[in-house]
Amino acid sequence: SLPRYGGTLELRDLTYTPAGAVTPLLRRLSLSVPAGNILVLKGRNGSGKSTLIRLIAGLADPQEGAVLADGVDIRKFAPLWWRQQTGYLPQEPVFLNRTIRENLLLANPRLSETDLQAVLHRAGAERAVADCAQGLDTPLRNFGQELPVGHRRRLALARALAVGGRLILLDEPTDGLDAEGTAVVYRTLIELARAGHTVVIASHDPRILQGASLVLDLDQSQDLAMSRDPAG
Ligand code: ATP
Ligand code: MG
Repeated sequence: SLPRYGGTLELRDLTYTPAGAVTPLLRRLSLSVPAGNILVLKGRNGSGKSTLIRLIAGLADPQEGAVLADGVDIRKFAPLWWRQQTGYLPQEPVFLNRTIRENLLLANPRLSETDLQAVLHRAGAERAVADCAQGLDTPLRNFGQELPVGHRRRLALARALAVGGRLILLDEPTDGLDAEGTAVVYRTLIELARAGHTVVIASHDPRILQGASLVLDLDQSQDLAMSRDPAG
């Protein structure tokens, strides 16, 4: 059987230049994240937060350096295996034109109904489902763009949690959420870290920043990451 991912994440001297760009967007980033940490990526618009999250998800490759999981370059893994270790909430979530349930179970079809309900609860997505005419069996028709933005983000968070991976990548998870939704996200990421998950979040939200055990400020010297006391 396949090895179990322990949740350790490392950026080793990582440099990334987007296609067509002249200078690197991310330059010689090095950072070690032990399992159970909450790393918050901050920085101005365009500083590379979403790009770094995609590199960690394995959706783009650095020109130099590497992303390592438990000390192994993620490019050595079977892409599907790494995908199953990694719950990813993109900044602009897109869904398949299938039912909500099918979307949520995509990466983890064997998730039980009980676990699915627990995931919806942790994502604060129960209302989002209840507001759809056929609940979980509601078919999406426009890649989820027809959903209210907060509902879309909560369902995309549920989809990321449903993967059941040790690593959770959240790109602006509280965008478009009200204070209650933000509080749910905050509580859930603290719970995830306590359960040994590694959480990487791109966020401008001061509430989310409070939960960080590590902060990487992409506006600052990229060779440094500031360490903070873990939340709670
Ligand atoms: P925001 O706060 O607005 O979400 P961000 O910090 O997430 O911004 P990114 O979305 O990572 O920033 O974009 C960083 C820069 O890299 C942008 O200028 C973007 O145009 C550029 N970029 C990222 N990926 C690519 C790509 N595949 N091709 C071309 N340019 C890219
Ligand atoms: Mg972004």
